[in-house]
Amino acid sequence: MPRPLEALVHLDALRHNLGVVRQHAPDAAVWAVVKANAYGHGLERAYQGLRAADGFALLDLNEARKLREMDWRGPILLLEGVFDARDLEWCSRLNLWHVVHSEAQIDWLAQHKTEWPHRVFLKMNSGMNRLGFRPEAFRQAWARLSALPQVDEVSFITHFSDADGPRGIAHQLEVFVQHTHDLPGERSLCNSAATLRHAHDPAVRGDWVRPGVMLYGASPDHPEHPASHWGLKPAMSLRSQLIAIQHLNAGDTVGYGSRFVAPRAMRIGVVACGYADGYPRHAPDGTPVLVDGQRTGVAGRVSMDMITVSLEHLPDAAVGSEVTLWGTGPADSLLPIDEVAAHCGTIGYELMCAVSPRVPFVVIDPQDRDPQDSGHARAQA
Ligand SMILES: *Cc1c(COP(=O)(O)O)cnc(C)c1O
Repeated sequence: MPRPLEALVHLDALRHNLGVVRQHAPDAAVWAVVKANAYGHGLERAYQGLRAADGFALLDLNEARKLREMDWRGPILLLEGVFDARDLEWCSRLNLWHVVHSEAQIDWLAQHKTEWPHRVFLKMNSGMNRLGFRPEAFRQAWARLSALPQVDEVSFITHFSDADGPRGIAHQLEVFVQHTHDLPGERSLCNSAATLRHAHDPAVRGDWVRPGVMLYGASPDHPEHPASHWGLKPAMSLRSQLIAIQHLNAGDTVGYGSRFVAPRAMRIGVVACGYADGYPRHAPDGTPVLVDGQRTGVAGRVSMDMITVSLEHLPDAAVGSEVTLWGTGPADSLLPIDEVAAHCGTIGYELMCAVSPRVPFVVIDPQDRDPQDSGHARAQA
């Protein structure tokens, strides 16, 4: 029997979450952001659930190539544009749209030989101070870019630093609108947080929204709003089992560094999942874990291949009990990835991206009627 640890990717959740995006931005086109191997879900797996998107946005030429190999004929946007002049060759060949955020990228385009002019998104640095032209330099970059024969339509893109928080987007929106309002072309401003919190304003919504994390069912503004508040469903469940149980006396300790000390006689469950699987090593005692769908917590330091959990209030737990590290578990139980992340001082994004290659992935597709397919069998289980 293989080690009882797997990551499930729920295609129905991806489809549902894409629907939530559309509810919040009804008249905008949707880039499904699938960078970082679809936030750790696997590009090919995520693609199966996100085909109804209007385009896919990512960073890596290889991932763009994979999408074309999967027969995606629609738009693909390179969110950071090209990294050198030669990448433009691939943009021409694969018909990729790309962000232009620097003078060097304009220089490369000016020297590029192509039969088909490129669709580009000119990026404004409206206050994030990562990528893009400063507002004062934006118009000149636009004039230069739009005069190139290598360039087809020019669209406009910017990125918010605080769409999920109290500072909000007004200061950046004002800068962006002020410097683009009289320029012709499509606009894209919203990540997940802006789509959920600010896209009711048509100026914010623009022509394209760019949600990432919400498609995967995590909340962009946890803990202010949990994923359930936004009606999002987890697209990934990390599941394992108890492989051993220890009976402790008061004062016994658990694991490396004896971090957990039993306050009284109790049982500890040993779970087949550790930091080499992508579970965060710095998870403190009490980080939530479901055993047979019931909540308990980490007890003792996370090790490479195992974690230990309290079974103090779970008298029925036994070797073989189902463990949910995050996502959905038995009997409609749910452990939001954002809660696990919050205990570990990080965000859902990081945990989902970090599931390690040794963890086997299984695609669950309730719409799949082929009984040969393991996804079907598991979906029934
Ligand atoms: C990653 C990214 C997004 C998606 O962000 P989420 O917070 O995951 O929705 C949107 N736009 C750009 C430019 C990005 O890099």
